[in-house]
Amino acid sequence: MITAATDIQFLKGVGEKRAVVLKSKGIDTIGALLRFYPRKYLDWTDIKPISEASFFENVCIKARIITPIETIEKRKGMTIFKFMVEDSSATAHITMFNQHFLANRLRTGREYLFYGRVDGNFYIKQMTSPIIMESSFGGIEPIYQASKTISSKVMEKLVKTALQSVEMVETLPLEIRERNGLCDIKTALWNIHFPKTKEGLKSAQKRLVFEELFVLQAGLTFLKKRSRGKTACLIEKNYFDDFKGILPFLLTNAQQRVINECFEDMKSGRPMNRLVQGDVGSGKTAVCAALMYITAKNGYQSALMAPTEILAEQHYKTIKGFFENSGLMVALLTGATTKKQKAVIKEQLKTGEIDIIIGTHALISDDVEFKSLGLVVTDEQHRFGVAQRGKLSSKGENPHTLVMSATPIPRTLGLILYGDLDISIIDEYPKGRQKIDTYLVDTNYRQRIYNYIKKFLNEGRQGYIVCPLVEENEVLDITPATEYYEKLKENDFKGYSLGLLHGKMSSKEKESVMRDFSEGKIQLLIATTVIEVGIDVPNAVIMVIENAERFGLSQLHQLRGRIGRGKYKSDCILISDNKSDDTKKRLDVIKNTADGFKIADADLELRGPGDFLGSRQHGLPDMKIADLFADRDVLHKAGREVEYLIKNDPSLKLEENLGLREEIIALYKKLNNN
Ligand code: ADP
Ligand code: MG
Repeated sequence: MITAATDIQFLKGVGEKRAVVLKSKGIDTIGALLRFYPRKYLDWTDIKPISEASFFENVCIKARIITPIETIEKRKGMTIFKFMVEDSSATAHITMFNQHFLANRLRTGREYLFYGRVDGNFYIKQMTSPIIMESSFGGIEPIYQASKTISSKVMEKLVKTALQSVEMVETLPLEIRERNGLCDIKTALWNIHFPKTKEGLKSAQKRLVFEELFVLQAGLTFLKKRSRGKTACLIEKNYFDDFKGILPFLLTNAQQRVINECFEDMKSGRPMNRLVQGDVGSGKTAVCAALMYITAKNGYQSALMAPTEILAEQHYKTIKGFFENSGLMVALLTGATTKKQKAVIKEQLKTGEIDIIIGTHALISDDVEFKSLGLVVTDEQHRFGVAQRGKLSSKGENPHTLVMSATPIPRTLGLILYGDLDISIIDEYPKGRQKIDTYLVDTNYRQRIYNYIKKFLNEGRQGYIVCPLVEENEVLDITPATEYYEKLKENDFKGYSLGLLHGKMSSKEKESVMRDFSEGKIQLLIATTVIEVGIDVPNAVIMVIENAERFGLSQLHQLRGRIGRGKYKSDCILISDNKSDDTKKRLDVIKNTADGFKIADADLELRGPGDFLGSRQHGLPDMKIADLFADRDVLHKAGREVEYLIKNDPSLKLEENLGLREEIIALYKKLNNN
């Protein structure tokens, strides 16, 4: 008997050769084929009058051929067929290439359906190589992603065979379907592949989108609950009060809440696996320090890994400062650490003398060993792959892990994107944080802005000018950073010390420029977005962003977070000559909002999710039909249903949930293979 789990090779019409091709597309079972939804549909029921057919869009027209089929032999192997058609609204030209067989069957005077892209001119429209059907043809035709050897038509046939030969097991309990107005799986699959009406297709899509988001979230819930093994690092005593005693400032409520959430994890006996998300300046370092302190006092070591040497050094300074008189030993290990020093540090890590190690990738090299690694922290998570994090963790016995990220991802998406991490959010800023004033001006103000910058530099402060691109760009009127830097150095800022930082520089060069800037040797830094991540120079108080319209809102926010970090009032000036409503709307968000989460939400809304979801780093399976952003309402609904379901049947043992269980297991496999 064949079922959804049967190898695709055994479906009638497939065989060995096609099986290889299908499997390369991820279709390895008959069930997977049924889940291979059409890429789009050709809707032969949606007929447009020629007069209303829009240029450059694919449309279906129903028209009569009113001229003989003209055959033009262009050259050998190239025949053009031309004729005119007419419906009650207008006439149009049709052009076809080389389709002798089809052309010979067309009859002047008869009506046909033509589907294709409309072009032509003001006087008469035209379609080139349309798909042509008998006028009686109705229905909606699925179009599948084809490959060289398997056409969409063949896919269609195979799917039909599959639908006829196996019955998919229902994955959504009846109660949930009823509550959300969703059709059953069989109806949904028939309608997604072979819809008879638009309504049928819509109802299938509705159900399958819901199902996909439901299964995804149910799967993640189980991933989070999955026993993560026992941790060898039991944090029993909460030394939080001691820590507060040595800290030079009072923690915000949000910081305290997050630290407590982490502590609850760490004393549970299972390894913590948590993401701390906090906007720039929200004080993530202090949270990390608190946990390191608690870990050390319980007798275990901690490691903090940062993506660059400068960031590592910065953390080292801060954290060492916190623990000056605490008796804890803090060390720094980066690529810049001397060989001799490295050997000493490695030895001290092995003996357990060092309580807290801060560093870069250097930490994950094979010869770094710990006596008892209890806590692994990574900063700015999007710079590290899961594998690197894992490698550091493997140096302990299931140590606790904490990931710190300043990328403000809208809350709803964060839940999904970070897969099996629990999430804590620092949603409050330390008191007395400097307000940053943000201005929006056009290039007419440039001279005044330069003078304004100089005023700060003369007072001993520092600043940034950010440009969008490095390379010469003739099409867009954008000054490349390098050229811009040269110009400023020679002219407007002659006599000042300027630095240049861009992505084409080696990381060594970048580090050296950043170091000079943080030591005050560079007064004004001309940079591209490479300064985005985490750099902390409290003396930098002014930032000018050129061609501000070229940046994403979240990116602008991250950039702006580089100033306003010290005791001085800071200003951010956005320069843009783009006066479109759209640009103004976006830049106004930045001007008027300081909250990274709100900005991220606005960014998503104005720009779509590409930026967040475009990178495939998040380790989620590809969505087949749902769109995490566009379908976010469904995402929430499905999320609530998951909670409800799992409360009633925690291990999905009930008969009616077995189909769902299978789907989740299949999803786990995919997540693990990612
Ligand atoms: P981020 O979350 O961007 O990494 P940091 O940890 O670098 O933020 O903190 C930003 C600044 O705020 C630092 O100078 C830090 O010492 C300070 N800070 C952190 N928490 C507090 C607090 N509760 N009260 C006052 N200042 C704080
Ligand atoms: Mg930080």
